[in-house]
Amino acid sequence: MNEPTIFPALEIPETLAAGPGPGNTDPRVLAAFARTGLADHMQADVLRGMIECKQMLRQVWGTRNTYTYGVGGTGFSGLDCMLGAILPGDSVVAFVNGTFSGIDGLTIRMKAATREELRANALDPQAASVTVVTVPHGESVTGEIVEKVLAEKKPKWAFMAHWETGSGRVNDLRGFSEACERHGAMGLVDAVSSLGIADFSIDDYPGVVGWASCPQKGVLCLPLTYAPVSFTDRYIAEVRANGCASYVHNPVLEARHWGVVEGKDVAAGSYHRTHSGYAVAAFHEALRLTLQQGIAQKARDYAFHEKALKDAVTAMGCTVTSNMTSLVVLNLPASLAGREKELVQGARARGFGIWPTLSEPVQVRIGILNQLSQAAITEIVTRFGAGLNEMGAGIDMDRVREGLARHYQTAIAAE
Ligand SMILES: *Cc1c(COP(=O)(O)O)cnc(C)c1O
Repeated sequence: MNEPTIFPALEIPETLAAGPGPGNTDPRVLAAFARTGLADHMQADVLRGMIECKQMLRQVWGTRNTYTYGVGGTGFSGLDCMLGAILPGDSVVAFVNGTFSGIDGLTIRMKAATREELRANALDPQAASVTVVTVPHGESVTGEIVEKVLAEKKPKWAFMAHWETGSGRVNDLRGFSEACERHGAMGLVDAVSSLGIADFSIDDYPGVVGWASCPQKGVLCLPLTYAPVSFTDRYIAEVRANGCASYVHNPVLEARHWGVVEGKDVAAGSYHRTHSGYAVAAFHEALRLTLQQGIAQKARDYAFHEKALKDAVTAMGCTVTSNMTSLVVLNLPASLAGREKELVQGARARGFGIWPTLSEPVQVRIGILNQLSQAAITEIVTRFGAGLNEMGAGIDMDRVREGLARHYQTAIAAE
């Protein structure tokens, strides 16, 4: 018998996660996770917690959709559930302008592909019924682009990311929803990066029938919990009529555990799979926190602090190409162009988690999820500037920090 290999206990340090996600989970949420007792998934308080989460989630999404709940897992788990209504041969138009909508486009092609198409290229099928419209990195999907393609293709489904985190771009949700309505397409939206950061109510976008988000960005509940989803009655009717090739990610069946049965709220959920009381408690606290801070206030705070960061990196000679309020995507000063990965690796080695873009062109991404204070933004700016200077940028960081301090003083004076 070989000796078993047992590693030392795993220790993971606290870092400054200043990337596109995950954001720093609030200590209140971690405390809720840790103080929860062992209770099975049918225990009364666990079930009550799930029903209360469902009700709070409707407020966070701004919706009356009965089918609003969390899918256990990451953002792509919620997206998989939402995209599960797409069946082989379905006509779909997917708008892609970066890494994440690109992966969503791949999921859509996998689901819409026929058996022959899937066999021909199992990991990257080209489905004849899917049109992928690629918008260049760094640009937004506009209402005009959506209108033109939907008018021509008249697809059953249309897909877009609300905020494309790969390139840091906000896409035109209003234009997308209206084009879907005009051309009879059922809109599906990846709202992974916008929920809990942007101030929007999904019921204001009637062309969109399905929405999916994630636990770790705006909702700030990383102890792997729930990906929020919401579906209109029209979407649910579609799944009821045509089915979905999944038990666990079935949008109708998955809702039962959250107390949604036959289109109605019921007093307590029924077994679908083993939910974790720890995860439910953490998610519950994250939603309470979000509602206490207020969606509109959070959106204003993100916009305010993102502007401070954007002005500071611009003063360092960087060029910002993003317009999301939780993330700055930038080109380095010309003298450092091509050294993005080196910069990011050096920062990571010091516990400062910034990111490159994951698709071409290579840019640097700095995020501010749950870093909404002058002290936090100043720390991010200082660390980023130190990294650039180590590579020889020669930036006068005192001047940059003075500019940053002025941004905050002016804002406080204006209040
Ligand atoms: C982060 C992100 C995802 C993936 O989320 P995971 O939690 O990593 O599964 C999908 N879409 C967008 C727009 C994202 O920003």
